Parts: sequence; structure tokens; C-alpha cells
Amino acid sequence: MIIAIDGPAASGKGTLAQRIAGHFGYVWLDTGLLYRAVARDVLAAGADLENEAEGARAAAALDAASLGDPALRSTAIGEAASVVAKHPSVRAALLDFQRNFARTPPGAVLDGRDIGTVICPDADVKIFVMADVEVRARRRFEEYVRRGENVTFEEVLDVIRQRDARDASRSAAPLQQAPDAVLLDTTEMDIEAAFEAALAIVSYVTTRRSAPR
Ligand code: C5P
Repeated sequence: MIIAIDGPAASGKGTLAQRIAGHFGYVWLDTGLLYRAVARDVLAAGADLENEAEGARAAAALDAASLGDPALRSTAIGEAASVVAKHPSVRAALLDFQRNFARTPPGAVLDGRDIGTVICPDADVKIFVMADVEVRARRRFEEYVRRGENVTFEEVLDVIRQRDARDASRSAAPLQQAPDAVLLDTTEMDIEAAFEAALAIVSYVTTRRSAPR
């Protein structure tokens, strides 16, 4: 079983993916961490994020054991990740790792931007998580405040808008809803409601698939 969860920055897709994986006893991969780790390694090597060859080298040498690094969660690394993520050869170097992970029995949940469109086009369930940009910025801002970070709401909103624009406009695997993905708009939902809605989608799609024709 493969469940693909895509969506823009701060849409809540990571939290949902983690909870769905826990619910079914599946493994979970936050694929954004791969691009974040590549950006971290490019920066650590003193190289330019715009340099595609450096990015591809870092992606090919990526150590999956380093994905738990808390430094990957910073806003700055998120921004840097969306720069390296536009390079086709960086994306190509990370493809096999993601596809192999997706085949982990009895099931895997992957969240990102291109899981339903490029990484796992044959996923059993595809969910595209959306929320108004102001709501996403508000949630992210509150998370930063809880962590004691010194940012304003306007700064967070600005960063999310820029990241959405970069991710949606790039030519390699842009952020896009797969035609067969179910849209989950969480603008008016808290995490519990979003989780229940996501479970209902999984149940609906898998029941419909297994129903005799
Ligand atoms: O999801 P997260 O914010 O951690 O992702 C960081 C960046 O990595 C995104 O802005 C996007 O540019 C890139 N990314 C991607 N494809 C994925 C996951 C993340 O291009 N599947």
C-alpha cells in the first residue's frame, strides 16, 4: 500500500502523513527532508545552491542516517531546499531512494510536492492537502512562537508565498495536484478534523478500488 500526500508549504501534510502512517502501521517519509539535507550539505561544502552539479553530487552522496538532524527544520534550510529542488539532476538522484522506500511492506506514506505526480504515480491513494496561504502562515507563525523564534507574521507569510511561487513555477516536477488525487482543503479544519477527513479519503479510495465491477 502506498499513500502519497502532496501539498504546499505549511499545509499540514507532514503531520497528517505521520498520523496516517501511525494509524495503519506503515512507514513514513517526509521527502522534504531529502531536499533540506542536500541544501545543508551544499552549504556545508561552501558551494552555491544554484550550482546544479554541486547539488547533484550532494544528493548522490546523501546519508539517510542524517535526516534526523534538527537543523534541517529551520526556515533558512527550507528556503535553501527549494532552490536545490529545482535542479532536475538533484531530483533524479533522489528518485530511487524514494521509490524503494515506498515499496516497504506492508505500506508506506510519503509526503512532499511530487509524490503523486512523479515519484509514485501508481500510489494506491493520493491526497493533495491545501489551505489558504494566510491560514498556513498563521499555523507556521504560531509554531515558531512556541519554539521561541523571533519572527513576525508578515515575514512568515512572505516566505511561504515565495516558496509556493518557486515550487509551483519550476519546470522540474512542479507542485501540482495529480489528476487522480483527492483534494483536502484544511482551511477550516483543525488537525483532528483533517486527520478524520484523510482517513475517510483513504477508506473511500481503497474500498472503491477493491469493489467488484
Ligand atoms: O516540505 P518541506 O518544506 O520540508 O520541503 C522543503 C522544500 O523541498 C520545498 O519547498 C520544495 O522545494 C522541496 N521539495 C520538493 N519535492 C518534494 C519535497 C520537497 O521539491 N517531494
